[in-house]
Amino acid sequence: IQKSQTDLMKRQSDFNELNEKITKLQDDLEKEKEQKHVDFLTGLLNRRAYEIEIEKFEKKYTLFDSSYAIIFLDIDHFKLINDNHGHDCGDSVLKTFAKILQKLTRDEDKVIRYGGEEFVVLVRYDKEKEVLKYVKRVKDLIDKNKFIFNDIKLKIQFCAGVTMRNNYESYTDAVNTADELLYKAKRSGRNKIIMDDKTII
Ligand code: GH3
Ligand code: MG
Ligand code: MG
Repeated sequence: IQKSQTDLMKRQSDFNELNEKITKLQDDLEKEKEQKHVDFLTGLLNRRAYEIEIEKFEKKYTLFDSSYAIIFLDIDHFKLINDNHGHDCGDSVLKTFAKILQKLTRDEDKVIRYGGEEFVVLVRYDKEKEVLKYVKRVKDLIDKNKFIFNDIKLKIQFCAGVTMRNNYESYTDAVNTADELLYKAKRSGRNKIIMDDKTII
């Protein structure tokens, strides 16, 4: 009896050990999966995550008619910052810009670094006015402050295109129009936000 009890205890301890290993592997896998969706420089969601997030927004939109806005933002003349002050300064501007966006955005909304100095924000709203308020808040904060890197102080400007999903047949139409409005803002002198109801900020 004693021998089989010792055997049993040994087996139990092997089992526990194995279980711990499995849990750790599962945790590692989860972390790995999360990191796959995080932008290394800014800590924002990356373009891979964008595809997943917009599908989630889309699902809620079709199931519950929950409206959302698509905002494409792009920093103006960002290349000049790199050229004039170096790549590290450019990186620092991107990090600060990302932090500001993240800070002004609710947890249920999503800020994504779409690539380079281009960002996308997906914002749920009840009234279109709320989206207008949100983009105004972002613009005000960026306009009123200087970005600091070592002893360099920079004014940053950006353009944005904003569409309300429910104004379009499909979300790809809404996305494409947000992108077009962003480029319209660039072509018409930069430092501008253009909404799909033609409001210009
Ligand atoms: P526009 O006003 O038309 O948007 O002009 P722009 O200079 O902002 O845009 P352009 O596309 O000409 O240049 C973007 C630059 O962003 C070029 C690229 O080297 C730089 N860039 C992209 N990713 C990063 C990054 O992670 N760090 C830094 N420092 N620069 C980056
Ligand atoms: Mg740019
Ligand atoms: Mg760009």
